[in-house]
Amino acid sequence: MIDFHCHLDLYPNPDGAALAAHRQSRFVLSVTTTPSAFEGTKALANGRPQIHTALGLHPQLAAQRYRELRIFDELAPTTPYIGEIGLDGAPENRATWRKQLDVFEHILKTCSGLGGRIMSIHSRRASAGVLDLLRSYPDSGVAVLHWFSGSSRDLDRAVEHGCWFSVGPPMVNSERGRALIERMPKDRVLTETDGPFAQKDGRPLVPADAERAAKGLAELWGVDDSEASATLLDNLSRLTASASAP
Ligand code: MN
Repeated sequence: MIDFHCHLDLYPNPDGAALAAHRQSRFVLSVTTTPSAFEGTKALANGRPQIHTALGLHPQLAAQRYRELRIFDELAPTTPYIGEIGLDGAPENRATWRKQLDVFEHILKTCSGLGGRIMSIHSRRASAGVLDLLRSYPDSGVAVLHWFSGSSRDLDRAVEHGCWFSVGPPMVNSERGRALIERMPKDRVLTETDGPFAQKDGRPLVPADAERAAKGLAELWGVDDSEASATLLDNLSRLTASASAP
């Protein structure tokens, strides 16, 4: 099973979460919300080759942590995976919008300078802004829009730009999420959980719950579980093959 966006470092017991992910998952992208969290989070992946750690600066922390962009730039050459990055246009984050744009743009510039990265991107209520900036930095790499919840028009723009999508259980379980998934090219979709933020019945999702998303995709695609899982693994290998050094 593939979980292309979860926060192993934010579970109450990060090492336990990483151990379970190691035992139950084929591939886990362990994203971070601040550059200073990267090294410690990366340690959770030691001896667990299916866990890959992404360097991030979450838009909701942009205003508070922009000084860590220096750390970001130091670490970016060491990892092919970047995330969680992006923009958040929810009313409570409007005040930091300007700073969010500066931080996201800085990160895209850094990624461009390194020949491109695989980026897990947050775009809540900000899909148009995210797409505008991605288009300004065409060499920044491959954008994987995580838990996309924008308009179908923005989704079509994202597809046209070459974006990929990671889809979790809450998306396959909502009517709106399913309508969006139906517009996504099947060969650019991966599963995710966004645990421990995303929950089910009051319990945080864990990487193994990506299976629920895969089952939902199988249903939407009108194929059996094994065919959906083969498609997802094929997608993953094409995406990760594009990961430039290191
Ligand atoms: Mn997240």
